[in-house]
Parts: sequence; C-alpha cells; structure tokens
Amino acid sequence: MSKRPVIETRIQAIIPETPRVSTFRLEIPKDASFSFKAGQFIMASIPDFRNERDRPVRRAYSISSSPLDLEKGYIELSITRVGEGGYFSNRIHASRVGDPVLVEGPYGNSFSLEEGNPAPHLFVGAGSGIAPLRAMIRTLLGSPAPPGIKVIYGFRKGEDFIFEKEFLEYAESAPGFSLIVIHSRPDPGWGGLSGRVPDLLPTLVPAYSGEVVYICGHPDMVRGTVDYLALAGFPEAAVRKEQW
Ligand SMILES: Cc1cc2nc3c(=O)[nH]c(=O)nc-3n(C[C@H](O)[C@H](O)[C@H](O)COP(=O)(O)OP(=O)(O)OC[C@H]3O[C@@H](n4cnc5c(N)ncnc54)[C@H](O)[C@@H]3O)c2cc1C
Repeated sequence: MSKRPVIETRIQAIIPETPRVSTFRLEIPKDASFSFKAGQFIMASIPDFRNERDRPVRRAYSISSSPLDLEKGYIELSITRVGEGGYFSNRIHASRVGDPVLVEGPYGNSFSLEEGNPAPHLFVGAGSGIAPLRAMIRTLLGSPAPPGIKVIYGFRKGEDFIFEKEFLEYAESAPGFSLIVIHSRPDPGWGGLSGRVPDLLPTLVPAYSGEVVYICGHPDMVRGTVDYLALAGFPEAAVRKEQW
C-alpha cells in the first residue's frame, strides 16, 4: 500500500446513528487534492494521539459518504465504539465538533464501486460493514439511471440499525430499491427476519440472476455469504468483498 498524502480535516458534525455508532463528518479543505471512489477507505489519526512507542495511532475507516458529497466539501466516517477498550474508536467518540482528524488515503481499489454497471446490484452487509455499502448506494442513487438495488443488512437489534432513516426513505421512494433487514439478537416482539445473514440467503437469494454483489462485515458473515453465493451459481468475478 503506497503512502498517500495526509490531509488535516476538522470535524464538522457528529451524527449519532445508534448507541455505539456515530458518523463523523469531516470537512475537507478546499485546496486539498482529495478524491475517492465509493467503497474505499482512509487511514485516520488524531494529532498528538500516540501509542506507548510514541507513534501515531492510525486506523482504517471506510468512507461512508458518496464522492458526490465531497462536492459539498466533506467525507463521512461511521465508527463503532469498540467496548471500553477500543483505543482509537473510543478516542474519536470523545472528540468534539471542530477537532482535527488527519486523513490519509484513499486506499482499497479492489473494493470500490464499478460505476456505470447496469447489472442489478446486491449489497450484503452486517454491522458497521454497511459503511462502504452506503457510500456505494448513495452514489448509485445519485446517478442519472440507477440499476436495481437490493440490500440485505444484518445487525443485532432495532436500535443498531445504522442509517435507518435514510434507508427507509430509499425503500419508500427510490424506484427499484429493496431493503431486507435481519436481527441477530432480536428484542422480544420483533416480527421480522432474525438469525445469521448467510443462513437466510438461500431464501432471500435463491439463485444467480445476473447481479453484481458487494459484501462487507465481519469475517464469519463474509465467508458464509461468499460460500453460499458460490453454491448458488454466482461467478467469482461478480462478487466483491471487504471484511474487518
Ligand atoms: C478496510 C477497513 C475498513 C474499516 N472500516 C471501518 C468502519 O467504517 N467503521 C468501523 O467502525 N470500523 C472500521 N474498521 C475497523 C477499524 O479499523 C478499527 O479496527 C476499529 O475501529 C477498532 O479500533 P480501536 O482502536 O478502537 O480498537 P483496538 O484498540 O485496536 O482494539 C482491537 C480489537 O480488540 C478488541 N477489543 C478491544 N477492546 C475491546 C473491548 N473493550 N471489548 C471487546 N473487544 C475489544 C476488538 O476486537 C477490537 O477490534 C475498518 C477496518 C478496515 C481494515
């Protein structure tokens, strides 16, 4: 991974998404030559936040906003606060509007949206793995003729639905957009789908019908999904994945 320039950004807004996830909107300076493709990630660090070896603490985060949003001068990162021990995620969750964040990138060409592909798009995400998929979905829906989009999104329970309002609006009003959510640890009273995403795929995606697929989430979910799609006849070239 060849090193990219480091840009000093400022937190423009902090948008609470769920009890553990917030979206950090970072203002990109007008004179910075920064561009990216939906799906790519950056390395984030915070000035003066260094580890015990006095090295900057750097972490990878997918850009969850679209390149179209960059025209308005910002990118967004949607970050889960990892327990009480997550080093960087806890530090950024303690930040305030106006604080600096250093951004290096973009990285990750192999998991970026292939724009202009008219094939139906299937997005399979779990937890904060929805971040790069949201960037892709916003990009497609902002294009003149979006393809069909099906989103299968797994998370623990109702309160963990990142981008809930936005996705429900798409489901309501974007032609050709469909959304299926799956709760892995549902609250009593949840009447929708529950379980592990890969276990439900045989019902939700019974066979290959020309889709291009983008998968992002924890390694178990990604592995299970890739294995199922191969069985269902999806060609390897149609399936792209990212995991963390
Ligand atoms: C390409 C890429 C893209 C990514 N995009 C995103 C993104 O969009 N959003 C996002 O939230 N993350 C993303 N990540 C993960 C991110 O880079 C960090 O790994 C994550 O934020 C944890 O960093 P940390 O410093 O807070 O945790 P660390 O201190 O590095 O902890 C590392 C691991 O230790 C464990 N751990 C530490 N403390 C606890 C605890 N108290 N309880 C339970 N487990 C604990 C966890 O497994 C944790 O992941 C991405 C990773 C990659 C590689």
